Amino acid sequence: MSESLAARLEATVRRLSGEIGERHFRRAHALDAALGLIHEELDRSGVAATDHHFEVSGRRFSNVEVLVPSRSGASENACIVVGAHYDTVPGTPGADDNATGVAALLELARQLAHERFERSLRLVFFPNEEPPFFPDAGMGSAVYAAELRRAAVDVHTMKCSATTAIDQTASGIPQGFRSCTRTGATSSAS
Ligand SMILES: [Zn+2]
Repeated sequence: MSESLAARLEATVRRLSGEIGERHFRRAHALDAALGLIHEELDRSGVAATDHHFEVSGRRFSNVEVLVPSRSGASENACIVVGAHYDTVPGTPGADDNATGVAALLELARQLAHERFERSLRLVFFPNEEPPFFPDAGMGSAVYAAELRRAAVDVHTMKCSATTAIDQTASGIPQGFRSCTRTGATSSAS
């Protein structure tokens, strides 16, 4: 790991867990600050991102998506989704769970956004992955998966063949990368 990469990862984890701290729907200003940090970091790296807004119990939340088109640009290419959640379990600053995942996904975005692969790549930052949302419909990843399913119905071509959640990367590899292969996005939270 280069020093600058290590420094970037550490700076993001420190800002999320130290400056912003506990971030979830009951601390909306902190959740918004985490969202702002994600956009700021992507902007700084010249990476375009789209907010996918949704409402739960009358409150607005955002999934942030970085779409890396496939080499051919054809939508029938199966995509790969890599996600990380930017909320925390209530009562914790969420350094390992999941500032580490956000930092890792930001780095993937920096390094991959301008590449082109056989499959399109969707890097997505999710809110609401922890209780009381987990494991129900208000989770950002569940909303996103529903969007993908609807899109697949519309265009008959889009299919996600793999999803990976980056979670608790400081806690060990087995928990750090969880992946599955199935149609539609799935999620894991811890
Ligand atoms: Zn987690």
